[in-house]
Amino acid sequence: MTLRETLVSHWPEYAMEAAGLGAFMIVACATTVLLEHPASRAPAIDPTVRRALMGAAMGLTAIALIHSPWGKRSGAHLNPAVTLAFWRLGRVPARDAIFYSLAQMAGGAIGVAFTWLVLRDALAHPSTNFAATLPRAGIAAAFLAEVAISFLFMLVVLAVTGSRHARWTGLCAGVLVAIYIFAESPISGMSMNPARSLASALGAGGFGTLWIYFLAPPLGMVAAAALQRSRAGCAKLDHAPGVRCIFCEQRPAPAERPKRIVILGGGFGAVFAAQQLERQLAGHGDYQVVLIAKDNYFVFQPMLPEVISGTIGLLDLVSPLRRLLPGTEIHVREVESIDLQKRTVTTAPGFLPHPHVIEYDHLVLALGTVTDFRGLRGLPEHALPFKNLNDALYLRNHVIRALEEAAIERHDEKLRRQLLTFVVAGGGFSGVEVVAELNDFVRGVAASYPQIDPREIRVVLVHSQDRILPEVPEKLGRFAQRILGERGVDLLLQTRLSAATGEEAVLADGRTIPTRTLVSTVPSFAHPLIEALHLPKNKSGRILVTPELSVQGLDGVWALGDCAQVPTLDGGVAPPTAQHATRQAKVLAHNLVATIRGGVPRVFDFKGLGKMGSLGRHSAVADVFGLQISGALAWFLWRTIYLQKLPGFGRKLKVAASWSFDLFLPPELVQFRFANQQLLLREHFEPGQEVFRQGDLGDRIYAILDGEAEVVIRDQVVARLGAGELFGEMALLDHTTRNATIRCAKPLSVWSLPKKELELLAQGMPELQRSLEQVRARRTRPLAGPG
Ligand SMILES: Cc1cc2nc3c(=O)[nH]c(=O)nc-3n(C[C@H](O)[C@H](O)[C@H](O)COP(=O)(O)OP(=O)(O)OC[C@H]3O[C@@H](n4cnc5c(N)ncnc54)[C@H](O)[C@@H]3O)c2cc1C
Repeated sequence: MTLRETLVSHWPEYAMEAAGLGAFMIVACATTVLLEHPASRAPAIDPTVRRALMGAAMGLTAIALIHSPWGKRSGAHLNPAVTLAFWRLGRVPARDAIFYSLAQMAGGAIGVAFTWLVLRDALAHPSTNFAATLPRAGIAAAFLAEVAISFLFMLVVLAVTGSRHARWTGLCAGVLVAIYIFAESPISGMSMNPARSLASALGAGGFGTLWIYFLAPPLGMVAAAALQRSRAGCAKLDHAPGVRCIFCEQRPAPAERPKRIVILGGGFGAVFAAQQLERQLAGHGDYQVVLIAKDNYFVFQPMLPEVISGTIGLLDLVSPLRRLLPGTEIHVREVESIDLQKRTVTTAPGFLPHPHVIEYDHLVLALGTVTDFRGLRGLPEHALPFKNLNDALYLRNHVIRALEEAAIERHDEKLRRQLLTFVVAGGGFSGVEVVAELNDFVRGVAASYPQIDPREIRVVLVHSQDRILPEVPEKLGRFAQRILGERGVDLLLQTRLSAATGEEAVLADGRTIPTRTLVSTVPSFAHPLIEALHLPKNKSGRILVTPELSVQGLDGVWALGDCAQVPTLDGGVAPPTAQHATRQAKVLAHNLVATIRGGVPRVFDFKGLGKMGSLGRHSAVADVFGLQISGALAWFLWRTIYLQKLPGFGRKLKVAASWSFDLFLPPELVQFRFANQQLLLREHFEPGQEVFRQGDLGDRIYAILDGEAEVVIRDQVVARLGAGELFGEMALLDHTTRNATIRCAKPLSVWSLPKKELELLAQGMPELQRSLEQVRARRTRPLAGPG
């Protein structure tokens, strides 16, 4: 751009900067007159209070100007020293820096002149002296103080603008201005700004010490900028989306895509790692963090059992990923496959079956584990897992439904017994917390069902060892047993669950428990995606990582949380808990950044803070810092610690409120009805519309009910299909992508079935499998058919 073009294009921003400092000076001068002029009553007030009032007024003015529409547009430097620091960082071109500084000086001077026109003698009075900034504790002290406050100011501005808390930059700047005016003005008069001091000096006519304010603030701010290693980032204090930015406009487009760190998962490991990476990579622009999770929220699992009783509102223990990770690209998709050779991750189809293949430079595996009932007779069909929000909601609804049914079931005694018996298998932390909440809930709401005698309710905990909670010392385990027993939970110890039907839980010793509600918190298995990867793993399928959290022998692959076996310094392995996953996230992010930028790697050496588990109503056990606590005190500790760990201040407030109301209000009893997920879909297409495209993921099989479709391969129509014909089977059978496009030729009605359900059907119906094979054989013979 030529000089003329720059001026023509950027003059509005220059004018806004001038107006910004002009407004600031008007407020500064007017407030000085109000607080200092003898005609005002304020001088009677204590000088400290007056300084505090002045600080508050100027701090609020700075915040208002930064977030005003003009401030958002120009960047609200309002200070040549700030502009100079951004120029030093390469974020403001030299020409703009010069015009910004000139505009700020002109604006400040006009602001003072305007106030003088209005207030005249009041502003010129010696007590107010045009709000001039003068050294009050000697030249040297004033100079050093100005350097120091300017340095700290810029350091904070750069740190906050470059972080995920960027939106608070204006507030931080305003608070600093207020504090400086209150605490520092007795030393240097508090300027931090050459244009601001010049404007007052022009009115007051005293230029003798002006050099301090021309030298010290730029020195301090440029020194702070020199500490900032990154050249990337912008020069606005409020970089509001959708507002023109003359600085970003001038930045050359990046030649290639930024490198990518892809994180798989949305739990403790993944979210905390992404947060750390956001923080450490902020403002650099050369690395992009992408997080792929199947849900768009993070669940605070330690509080999950409280969803059963409704002690916590349904949405209070979940946080939207986009709020937690504003600087991360979020893909809400299920990961379908990982290719370590090609360094890609493929996600499952969304609305359209087009595959999303995401390349990575670094891959972070944080997929956790899965509850898998494979090999346990009847459990896949009849046991309820308890791992995520869906499981908790489903269980709560199921329990309410069982109570509703039992309340009106008068004829079938056996069914009534089944409905009122609730069985939980697994006496570890999750199982104990689930059974405690479940027991409190069903017994707590029983009063709302006059037809149910509370003595009919049976809650059972089945555990394979001789005491529950093997994770904590024996004393605490025995305490938990006593409390649960007193509250009506039947403890079946040294007993294993061996099978289940829709009507009973079958124990290994042959006994059966009639029930329609069986929850199992065990067993936990390796995630199928992790199972499929050729990586070093332990016997239970957890990935073996180094103490630095990288996967041995694989460049750029990292793992943490429940899916990884992380060695500890004492020769053991880190247990699969949230407190360990979050600490691993910090170490992993540090080491990943150290790999990229160079730095000393760290090893994971967290020993754990202790263990805590809730036993429901006002009781818990805690083994923390070597102390063993049980009962109400442990319960209070449990709630305080987890409340403090819950992400987000608003959410903390909501949960605290829920817990407080819960102390005196009866539990909620609402049963939700979720729309059934339709597996067999009917769809309609009009001529020209594509059902799927060549190259898409093979996710469903289709059958034509009515109409006609064309099979298109590389823009050539190779076949036509009519009513009664199947398509889409080849990609399913061969587990590949579609080899043809199917386009509607005449108004087309189809039904379609997802891959998983088709596989299940074909497993139980060999005939179906055979006929699908025949269709494929027929179609592959003359031409590649539709699949
Ligand atoms: C009921 C319960 C209570 C608990 N209480 C405590 C406690 O009090 N204290 C404690 O320290 N620990 C507790 N834990 C354990 C703790 O929650 C886990 O150790 C922790 O969640 C592990 O974190 P992670 O990131 O490794 O895995 P997870 O938190 O399980 O996260 C795995 C993530 O991967 C996502 N995912 C899985 N498959 C796919 C896919 N194909 N595509 C996309 N995303 C996918 C999941 O949706 C999930 O977001 C509890 C666990 C449970 C179940």
